[in-house]
Formats: sequence, C-alpha cells, structure tokens
Amino acid sequence: MSSTSFEITRIPTPDEQRALTTETVYTTTISPQKTSQLLSFIAKHLPKLTGIEHVKRVRKTSTFLQVILCQTSAITEEELLRILKDSEWTLGEICQVPDTPPITADQFSKWKDVWPVAFRPPAQNRVEITEEERKYIAGQILRSEQEGVVMCQPKTHAVVASATAQDHPLRHAAMCCIGKVADLELARNDSLVPAKRMHDEPSDTAGYLCEGLDVFAITEPCVMCCMALVHSRIGRLFFINAASGGGISYYGMHARKGLNHHFSVFQCSMPEKSDA
Ligand SMILES: [Zn+2]
Repeated sequence: MSSTSFEITRIPTPDEQRALTTETVYTTTISPQKTSQLLSFIAKHLPKLTGIEHVKRVRKTSTFLQVILCQTSAITEEELLRILKDSEWTLGEICQVPDTPPITADQFSKWKDVWPVAFRPPAQNRVEITEEERKYIAGQILRSEQEGVVMCQPKTHAVVASATAQDHPLRHAAMCCIGKVADLELARNDSLVPAKRMHDEPSDTAGYLCEGLDVFAITEPCVMCCMALVHSRIGRLFFINAASGGGISYYGMHARKGLNHHFSVFQCSMPEKSDA
C-alpha cells in the first residue's frame, strides 16, 4: 500500500445532485392477507402507474399495508370513488411518492423515507478506480503538466495524442488535441489501400474520433472544448483545477440532457512523481 494523498473524485452529474420531487397517488390500507385480492382488483379496474415504475406498490406499517391505487393525475377522486363504490376497498390517504428514480445512495436513503422505491444505480456509478489505474492516471496528469491536454486508450494506457494551446482564440489545448487525433486518423486511412479501408476498418476507430478515450488536463476545459469532447465521444475526463465558468463545473457539459453523449469526469489532486 502506498501512503499517497493523490485523490481522484468523480464529479456528480446534475441528475445525481437533484433534490427530491414528488407526485401524488391515491392509496388504501389493508391487512396483509388481502394483498393479492386487492392487486388483482387494481390490475382489472384502475389505470396503470406510468413513469413511476421505481415506486413500490406497497408500504408496510407496523399494523397494516398501505397500497397505491393509482396516480392522482390518472383519474379524478370522483371517478375513483365511483370505481371503488361496489368493492370492498376504500380510499385512504393521498400520498407523495418520488417522481424520478434515485441514482445515488444518498438520494435513495432520503427518498425511500418518503415512499419505498427501488434503487438501481447506473453502471458508471459503480466503477471503482483500481490501484493500477491510479498510477496510470497520476502518470498522465504529470505528463499533462508538461505536454498540455493528453488523450489515452483506457485499456492499454497508450498515449494517442497530446497538445498545448496555440496562439489563436479557438485553438485551446483540447481542441488542438482533438485536431491531432483527426490528423492521425487521416494519415492512417491514407496509408491503407482502398479495399482495406472499406472492409478492415477496426471498430474502435471506425465510429467517432476519440471514442472512449481518457482525456487528461491540468485545467478544466471551457464550454467550447467540452462540446468538442462530447462530439468526439470521449470516455472520461480527468483534470486538476476547476475554471470559473468551466465546461463541467458551471455548464455540466458531461451529462446534459439533450446531448446524445455523456462522459465521466474526475477532479484530481496534483500527484507526486511517486504516485505514478
Ligand atoms: Zn477551451
């Protein structure tokens, strides 16, 4: 074990930081023995729950079960009472339930107290950085200090390109680095005979320019550079210093709804040479 203080902290997405919002449902209370009877009544006579599949139908209390009948947005109370009139069920409380699924442990621990919900964290939330990866990340950040923005293959840790900013308002380091990857790709394609180009395109580079690559930078990229990173489909971004009005910390460009690609972002402390 190393005694390093090198820290890698994943920056949460706006969805992961979202506070609880709710919608309302009609409920009834029953004894546990009546559960299957009530559920078949609900399936037959009441509107399906829509958009709140993460919400559990039944909440246990010490003495009885509280069961969701349907959403208040689906039918009026008057209609519901008319449907319940000839049954053995009665309308109970109108309750709040979380209207979106929790995606972090923190959201889950708070939201389940409002009403029980299922918790299935997205895959990228569960990925842990291994000790071997920490060394690789530390090494590439140290390289970034010398060479500007660095792009690497996450599987082989091979450096694909690195670039510093040029004296031009649009040629920031990240833009220049993407440009270098484009040049490499062009040169590679030119070196292939046409028949090979058509049929033997390796799948990892046949799609988007920087698909799945790790990007390392000392300073957080600006919004323009982040947009270019979205378009070129990078996998992960690591940086040290947040910038005011930065593409990630201010604009959340790594996980914006409406953009068709999201990537993971980690803010790191400055590594020591011994961390790499
Ligand atoms: Zn920029």
